Amino acid sequence: MSIFIVGLLLFLWLFQVVFLDQFYRSIKINNVKSAAVTIAGNIDNENILNIVSEVSGQNELCVRIIGLNQQDLLAKQDNLGCSLSSITYNDLNNFYENAINHNGTYLHSQNLSTIREGVNWFKYGFNNKEQEIIYVQMTQDGSNNEVMILLNARISPINTTGETIRAQLIYIFMIVILASLVLVVIMSKRIVNPIMAMNNSAKLLAKGEFDLQFKGKGYLEITELNDSLNKACIELNKVENYRKELIANVSHDLRTPLTMISGYSEVMRDIPGENSPENIQIIIDEAKRLSNLVNDLMALSKFQGEGQSLNLTQTNLTYSIKKILQRYTKLKEQEGYQLSFEFDQEVSLMMDEAKIEQVLYNLINNAINYTGDDLKITIKQIVSEDTVRIEVIDTGIGIESDQLELIFDRYYKSNQMHKRAVVGTGLGLSIVKSILQLHNAKYGVESILNEGSTFWFEMKLK
Ligand code: ADP
Repeated sequence: MSIFIVGLLLFLWLFQVVFLDQFYRSIKINNVKSAAVTIAGNIDNENILNIVSEVSGQNELCVRIIGLNQQDLLAKQDNLGCSLSSITYNDLNNFYENAINHNGTYLHSQNLSTIREGVNWFKYGFNNKEQEIIYVQMTQDGSNNEVMILLNARISPINTTGETIRAQLIYIFMIVILASLVLVVIMSKRIVNPIMAMNNSAKLLAKGEFDLQFKGKGYLEITELNDSLNKACIELNKVENYRKELIANVSHDLRTPLTMISGYSEVMRDIPGENSPENIQIIIDEAKRLSNLVNDLMALSKFQGEGQSLNLTQTNLTYSIKKILQRYTKLKEQEGYQLSFEFDQEVSLMMDEAKIEQVLYNLINNAINYTGDDLKITIKQIVSEDTVRIEVIDTGIGIESDQLELIFDRYYKSNQMHKRAVVGTGLGLSIVKSILQLHNAKYGVESILNEGSTFWFEMKLK
């Protein structure tokens, strides 16, 4: 910023102070030259006198037009101190020859004081540095006679103007530097500082510290970026916690059955009387639990892996539900569960049959595990215009409202202890979520504590 401002001021300085004289001089000379061209072009014009008056008035020029034998055709020398009138015969000859040798034009410049010394000194002073130019333009009149146009102009020194500009520039310089300092302070406070603070936090984030707060406050965009980073941080933190939790839970859940299996096996090997069918059943159950856990984990990683595709076929959903419910007949008979299915029509839609059956199976299993003492589970199929909604309703302990959001997350297990021995892996609902998301289905859960829960999903019929 400072370099830019100093550069800008230097540029100003160069143009306004250093090159000001040259600029002024070249502009003045250009004016004189174009005046000469105008006069030369109108040399035969009967209004030449008016034209000359006008041109000389505009540009503060003295004009002399000289014809054959150095005869004055016209002279316009109103301006004070014109030196054209005092040009000697020799000078005129000199100008003429120079002009002829330089393609018809010639520019002569001299210090004014040398010519006017003793004449106008009282006006201009002895130390006058004023310059004047005499410009000669050769042309021809209508009768092909040579005509010499002499123009005389003063080039006033612009020292005083230059000094004024210089003084002004110093003030401008100071004001601009001060303003830029203020600007730099404001900008660094509102832009650079927050970005640096955010960068420092981002470096920590890159090192794997997710439990941090971005504290960048400034302009709207910076605050927004800060908020987005904070949100990203919270999400990363969540993922990190899930990961830790998952590893802890999986290793815990693997260890328990493994300890049981190895414990019972050792007992059966060492103590002859312990080789009973009950003990073998425990080993088989624990091995099943292990394989369930591994299956669930594999299913989940498959669903959440990229490129997971669905095997969509036109399937009768109502029939699928009935089929699953049949598996529970024994449970109904032996333990008194009441599973009812309410539907008013059969619906058929495009879906991946095996996967949706897994969803239904997981939801119904959960309902059986968590339903209340009346052992009631209701499955409802509600068909509206273009959607079918499936509800799995139980009368159990329900789920606390603050946990409803978490329930579909991987490896979530509510803290509530359940009186029925529930052997869950905590992965069932996240498998449900993955499958329903693949089907672009809506899903959710509504629950009232101690009254029951309703897990539902909705799919488009077409
Ligand atoms: P799990 O194999 O442990 O059942 P899920 O992912 O299916 O795993 O369920 C996650 C958690 O959600 C369960 O541990 C339980 O706390 C809660 N949950 C699931 N279904 C119900 C339900 N019908 N009623 C009450 N809580 C439920």
